[in-house]
Amino acid sequence: MTAEPAQLPGRARVVIIGGGVIGASVAYHLALMGWTDVLLLEQGQLSCGTTWHAAGLVGQLRATENGTRLVQYSTELYGRLEEETGLSAGFRRCGGVTVARTHDRMVQLRRTAATAEAYQLDCELITPAQARDRYPIMAVDDIAGAIWLPGDGRANPTDLTAALARGARDRGVLIRERVRVTGIRTRAGAVTGVHTDRGDIEAEIVVNCAGQWAKQVGAMCGVTVPLHSAEHFYVVTERIDGAHRDLPVLRDPDGYTYFKEEVGGLVVGGFEPEAKPWVAPDELPYPFEFRLLDEDWDHFAILMDSAIARIPVLAETGIKKFYNGPESFTPDNQFILGEAPELRNFFVGAGFNSVGIASAGGAGRALAEWIIEGEPSLDLSAVDIRRFARFNGNNQWLHDRVSEVLGLHYAVPWPNRELATARPFRRSPAYHLLKQANACFGSRMGWERANYFAPPGQDAAIEYGWGQQSWQPWSNAEQRAAR
Ligand SMILES: Cc1cc2nc3c(=O)[nH]c(=O)nc-3n(C[C@H](O)[C@H](O)[C@H](O)COP(=O)(O)OP(=O)(O)OC[C@H]3O[C@@H](n4cnc5c(N)ncnc54)[C@H](O)[C@@H]3O)c2cc1C
Repeated sequence: MTAEPAQLPGRARVVIIGGGVIGASVAYHLALMGWTDVLLLEQGQLSCGTTWHAAGLVGQLRATENGTRLVQYSTELYGRLEEETGLSAGFRRCGGVTVARTHDRMVQLRRTAATAEAYQLDCELITPAQARDRYPIMAVDDIAGAIWLPGDGRANPTDLTAALARGARDRGVLIRERVRVTGIRTRAGAVTGVHTDRGDIEAEIVVNCAGQWAKQVGAMCGVTVPLHSAEHFYVVTERIDGAHRDLPVLRDPDGYTYFKEEVGGLVVGGFEPEAKPWVAPDELPYPFEFRLLDEDWDHFAILMDSAIARIPVLAETGIKKFYNGPESFTPDNQFILGEAPELRNFFVGAGFNSVGIASAGGAGRALAEWIIEGEPSLDLSAVDIRRFARFNGNNQWLHDRVSEVLGLHYAVPWPNRELATARPFRRSPAYHLLKQANACFGSRMGWERANYFAPPGQDAAIEYGWGQQSWQPWSNAEQRAAR
């Protein structure tokens, strides 16, 4: 989409900051629901921030039912956008195969299949041989089993953004590129508009969809948007025999990797256990349009080695391009949606933790409902911005935390998992006494809290597992003693 040199209006009912896939989706859904006095401002060009270099995987199954419903809606929408707008989102329902290397992962996949059934989502447990039938170029000697999700797919992120923007424009939304928001206007605890490098604009409602810049934009009006960028990697290979348009998306979470067909080769990317945080949110460079970061083959090695083990032909396939793009991650791996508790009529849709393409349709609709009707039609408390407090905006804390968060995508989602990074952060005056008593700590709102006490001489560490928890006997002993 080309820049529009047209004049800026002096007011709009809603101003959306950011023309990535999320801002475009919010604009589209506001217009779809009848609110057309909407102005979207983008400091560069549409999709020039993080959106343009996304791999475009659209996996439907999420940790919560409503998270899954949200992506299910995205897939329906992406499939019909071309008919509606004349622009294709490049969406292809190629299906997805996820393989398990270990017993523990297999337990997770069985649970996933059961959850999918409860959500009326097609998902089938398959054997290694059946997995290879669906994905003939992979090695399956070391896998325990797999699942097949026929409804999963992939989209083209730039085309998707353009199609959503076209749908919004066709209904009357104004989109202005090359306009940078430089401040937020407020009065009596409510937002009243924005300052831009091309003049001021009055607004009843302002929506912060500024991607990794959303923390900066929030700080313009005292709103905490806890996110931090991390470098995120994939490579695109030369052509490979057997890589075709209908090849499913393959995920090998025990090897931290995913694979997607692209022009006859493969996109090979992943979620390494220890990520590389990028610069602090207030030090993000400007301008930063359609830009990538430097290649880092050392950091990528853990993914590439594992990818070659899964798809042996990669060992003799050339790499066409290395993508290192920054994406924003949040402290708990959930995105950030809703009205900011600090400022009335100031909404946020940001921090998409590398699932922004898959989530955009559903998240855009939810935010439009929140704005127009006062709440979304799904319970989205897991992603509500009100779960955070001011301390969550601490840049050092965020920096340390996102190094762990990126890898959580493919980590086994153990029950009762406690995140290990950026701790201890807040300690009560009794912390040292609890520690002396061999407490095993968890963290809630940044506070170190004794979850249970290991017997003297034993290591007070959590051993995660699907069955009875390792700390259960300790907890039982404590209850008996208390009784
Ligand atoms: C390597 C990589 C692979 C990925 N793969 C996938 C995938 O397979 N599937 C998936 O679902 N997701 C994937 N993602 C994640 C996805 O790209 C993001 O979640 C999504 O693009 C975020 O969209 P956004 O609109 O929030 O942010 P952005 O696209 O960054 O949009 C924000 C926009 O706001 C603008 N802006 C900022 N400040 C201002 C201001 N002051 N005034 C005006 N405009 C402003 C910026 O210029 C920018 O264009 C991937 C990400 C990376 C990095």
